Amino acid sequence: MTLSAVESMLPAHTSPLVLVGAGHAHLVMMRMWLQQGWQPPTGTLLISAGAQAWYSGMMPGLIAGRFALEDCAINLQPLCQRLGITLVQALVTALNTGEKHLTLDDGARVNYQLLSINSGSRPMGPDLCDGSVTVLPAKPFPEFIRHWQHWRHQPPVRLMVLGGGAAAFELALALKQQFPDSELSLACSGVLLHNHGQHLRTRAQHWLRMAGIQIYQHSRVDRIADKQVYAGHQRLQSIDALVLATGASALPWYAQSGLMCDDQGFIMVDSHLRSRDARVFAAGDAASSTGSVRSGVFSVRHGPTLAHNLRATLQAQALMPYQPQKNALALLATGDGGALMSYGTLAIGSRLSAPLLGRWKDYLDLSFMKRHRIVS
Ligand SMILES: Cc1cc2nc3c(=O)[nH]c(=O)nc-3n(C[C@H](O)[C@H](O)[C@H](O)COP(=O)(O)OP(=O)(O)OC[C@H]3O[C@@H](n4cnc5c(N)ncnc54)[C@H](O)[C@@H]3O)c2cc1C
Repeated sequence: MTLSAVESMLPAHTSPLVLVGAGHAHLVMMRMWLQQGWQPPTGTLLISAGAQAWYSGMMPGLIAGRFALEDCAINLQPLCQRLGITLVQALVTALNTGEKHLTLDDGARVNYQLLSINSGSRPMGPDLCDGSVTVLPAKPFPEFIRHWQHWRHQPPVRLMVLGGGAAAFELALALKQQFPDSELSLACSGVLLHNHGQHLRTRAQHWLRMAGIQIYQHSRVDRIADKQVYAGHQRLQSIDALVLATGASALPWYAQSGLMCDDQGFIMVDSHLRSRDARVFAAGDAASSTGSVRSGVFSVRHGPTLAHNLRATLQAQALMPYQPQKNALALLATGDGGALMSYGTLAIGSRLSAPLLGRWKDYLDLSFMKRHRIVS
């Protein structure tokens, strides 16, 4: 979109409320406002990198070939239209909290009175890579999907997934399901699924091995040279492509904005999801607060608090605190329609129970999509 195209969509004066990113929390929030019959003030903007919001929980199912593209994304225009919000398709590249304005990727400037940031995070790559292999971050999803579509015609022979969390586990199995003839491996710097109990970790490793996926644990991949993957001085193996599903890293403009950020560059928020600057809220992966974990589940849970607090700020009413849950249910897709379940130290996922758990996961994911999809 050109500068003049973006500017023609923007109000000439300062916007009363600007939402950055169509992450899970903003989706839930907008859906709640719709249910409550409340419309944000005229001139409210949603600035989103794309016209659709992708649902991460269904991404591995898409990659495994179990869902169609349209199953996994929500069109933002109908939702915005019903709420009287203007959708601006652009990337935010800078935030100046001193002057209360955002800069977009085409140079356009957006002034705000109240700002809410739900633009997520990016996976981290190895420190050094000589360009001899394709390095593909799992996010942003549109780019990842475009590349995966290309691979469907020409699969990489040797493929490694980097990361030790649920996303890496699910993506490795999904990619194996889609490209059974490719040699697949997974490498992580610590223990695989370190946030989960030992029981689930053992099961997950079993599933990966059964699928023929080589696992490298305690292997912090720091260098790719001449198609060789290195973890310190140890050479792991040769590859053609590397998928990054590593932990979240902050978008650089968070820390450059003048907002108080943690040592990883995520925006520090209080129990109301409000930053040190009372005109800026942050939710999902972008936010840093005690007790919050960076996952889609937690971002979804930020939604109702954000819906209340933005509305309350605009109406000069009392804010509501966000109460993080101690444990979250995790259903990890096994690529074949099955899933493993983890809740605290409890883990379920045998060959018998996995298909049933998979059906439950599909039901939950599809219900989420149904709830948030507005047909124009
Ligand atoms: C393959 C994969 C599978 C996963 N599966 C699960 C799962 O099953 N369960 C789970 O809990 N978590 C899962 N996760 C983690 C989950 O994706 C994230 O924690 C979650 O998406 C964070 O949500 P969010 O609301 O912060 O932002 P996101 O959902 O990442 O959304 C951010 C939005 O902001 C937009 N955006 C980004 N930058 C800008 C910008 N500069 N300007 C404007 N817009 C911008 C993006 O286009 C996107 O629409 C998975 C992650 C991956 C990679």
